[in-house]
Amino acid sequence: MPEGDTLFRTAAGLRPHLVGRTVGAASARQPGPQADRIVGATVTGVEAQGKNLLIRFDNGLEVRTHLGMHGSWHRYRPGEPWRRPPARARLVIEVPGAVAVCFDAPTVELFEQRAEALHPNLRRLGPDLLVDPFDLDEALRRLRDASRPPTIGEALLDQRALAGIGNEVRNQSLWEARVSPFLPVEAVDDATLRSLVERSMAILREGARTGRRRSDIHGRSGRPCPRCRTPIRSEAYGGDLPRIAYWCPSCQPDPREDVPTGA
Ligand SMILES: [Zn+2]
Repeated sequence: MPEGDTLFRTAAGLRPHLVGRTVGAASARQPGPQADRIVGATVTGVEAQGKNLLIRFDNGLEVRTHLGMHGSWHRYRPGEPWRRPPARARLVIEVPGAVAVCFDAPTVELFEQRAEALHPNLRRLGPDLLVDPFDLDEALRRLRDASRPPTIGEALLDQRALAGIGNEVRNQSLWEARVSPFLPVEAVDDATLRSLVERSMAILREGARTGRRRSDIHGRSGRPCPRCRTPIRSEAYGGDLPRIAYWCPSCQPDPREDVPTGA
């Protein structure tokens, strides 16, 4: 699944082929953006923000894609066969020497750059784990914010608290820190909360650098925990967009299963 590290690498891979070059042709699947508005414009920047990819043009326009669960950006040489069916292309941008194709993304938008500050998905993003300097104290404050989701598993996925963590990194950092995803944020002490953010940052930065994301329990329901051999458990949970949490019931005791001792 594309998380912040994937987007960081995507931006780094597209940037040298797009920036400074003029769009010769562009098309988008409809309903979608009016891609002809970027034809003739020169690309001025390619940037990852959390799990968003932003491509800016010298005519004041900007493309935003969010890859969701299955989307991806590919870069091809002109005439090179594509690795996914053309019918799944949401946006195609052709510049001299390169063709950038966004496949299967649920979100492809074109808007004026001056509107970026007002964009509902961008203006509220928390500190980005892949951008220096990273404001750790602000991220911790936002994680503690009372309006945030009540459990630590949900809070780590909230891009308004900190940007870049997806489900796999969430599951990994909680397992490494031996914290249950179901623990209320208020029950997580400051040192542990800081450690969770630092672990998530380390996983994402390692993934951005190497293209490989360390992952010990994600997707491994029923298989033994690499640390204690207890079978991994999984459960979809979390508000509007349930995601599958994986955890070790021994290393990460579930607070919901605390047996009342009676009074
Ligand atoms: Zn374990």
